Amino acid sequence: MDADLKELLDNFKSYNPAQDTILIEKAYNFAKAAHEGQKRLTGEPFFIHAVAVAKIMLEHKLDVDTISAALLHDVVEDTPATVAEIEKNFNKDIAAMVAGLTKIDKLENTSADEETAENWRKMLIAVSHDMRIILIKLADRMHNMKTLDALPPPRQKEKALETLTLYAPLAQRLGMFSIKNELEDLSFKYLHPQEHKIVEDGVKRLEKDLDNKLAAFTKVLGGVLDKDQIPHKLLARVKNNFSIYRKMKKQNSGFDQIQDLLGVRIITDNKLDCYRALGALHANFKPVAGSFTDYIAMPKMNMYQSIHTTVFFEGALVEVQIRTEEMHRTCEYGIAAHWRYKLGSKADPHLDEKLNWIRQWIEWQRDLTAPREFLESFQTDINLSQIFVFTPKGDVKVLPERATPLDFAYLVHTEIGEHYSGALVNGKMVKMNSELKSGDICEIQTKKNAEPKAQWLEAAKTARARSKIKTYLRAKGVEF
Ligand code: MN
Repeated sequence: MDADLKELLDNFKSYNPAQDTILIEKAYNFAKAAHEGQKRLTGEPFFIHAVAVAKIMLEHKLDVDTISAALLHDVVEDTPATVAEIEKNFNKDIAAMVAGLTKIDKLENTSADEETAENWRKMLIAVSHDMRIILIKLADRMHNMKTLDALPPPRQKEKALETLTLYAPLAQRLGMFSIKNELEDLSFKYLHPQEHKIVEDGVKRLEKDLDNKLAAFTKVLGGVLDKDQIPHKLLARVKNNFSIYRKMKKQNSGFDQIQDLLGVRIITDNKLDCYRALGALHANFKPVAGSFTDYIAMPKMNMYQSIHTTVFFEGALVEVQIRTEEMHRTCEYGIAAHWRYKLGSKADPHLDEKLNWIRQWIEWQRDLTAPREFLESFQTDINLSQIFVFTPKGDVKVLPERATPLDFAYLVHTEIGEHYSGALVNGKMVKMNSELKSGDICEIQTKKNAEPKAQWLEAAKTARARSKIKTYLRAKGVEF
């Protein structure tokens, strides 16, 4: 067997030993034969690219279909092979993923700003039925960014800009943080070569110092947590180049003025211990005012959960993130965790819900009229495009901005949506189409004989509510 193929299979078996891998093997041989003789701009055989993309997907522990589709992702675009052929030789899911990726490639080849944005919207909507397509696309872009030297400089800048403004935020939305960081660092190098060199050299120069400081901090912190008998694992790192650069720009300062180059993660076993760890941390290290954010009580839409705080340590600042093992896994794998858990027995009951949120966010983009508005919504901080609304019992529901009480009702339960008769927001009656705000307490009133009407579609902003209403109207034969 081919050494590369063996490596792929061994890697897959390391996290999923029981699964049959025949499809991966077939995909490998099919793609290798199809790309035979083709070369990349780097001069290497083209097939190396397909294998590299599959390897990135393996790092995120994806399923057989995704690994196979990663190997096959360019065969329809770049060889005579067809989607029908892939469906015949493999399966429907793999064929649909390859078809989706081919479609993206076609849309991608434009550069005007408005068009790019519009294409992106189209692309996301077109492939949102299977997020694995987007994951493969991110891996594809990552490998292309790693081999960007082969392109002429103006094309390098163009690709890097697109990666920084579209692909990295997309990875962040999907909770794929390691891919996001790597895409940012790779883009940074081509977009701002001089600044990149300053940061890279600076980090290299301080490497020893920074490592010593991290070691000293984790030693003291470990002792503090031991004393309070808080179970923990500590992960320490120097921040990535792009986030250092971003800080420099934000503070309008040079590399030498940046104090918070260090990051430490405390991984503990449950939510309560996260807060105990926070208590121990703040009792022993002075926190920086205003640096504390609790994404455990208020999780982000991209599934991110952690407590963030920054503390002083020997004249430096250390950003500390506190999370449980489970939150950490979700942070590491993002939505990829969905397919991983599906394979095993320990399914995360919240993951489907979280995934629906991303789908819904993508669907939400349908309502934005101008491509530029879409682009803005895409690039703004994830926190800005979602709101937290409470049920009268205090449960928190996450909705996109501009969502209405009707959306809220459908989110709580389809039955409640379908029998909607009114809503109280913070104790006051409001219209069905009024916009909810973060922190609102929303109480839905229902009536037995209330039912969805065509006008409800004007008040419903979320994909979930809209599709439920349409299904109901269709069943009743109502025109809309
Ligand atoms: Mn490719």
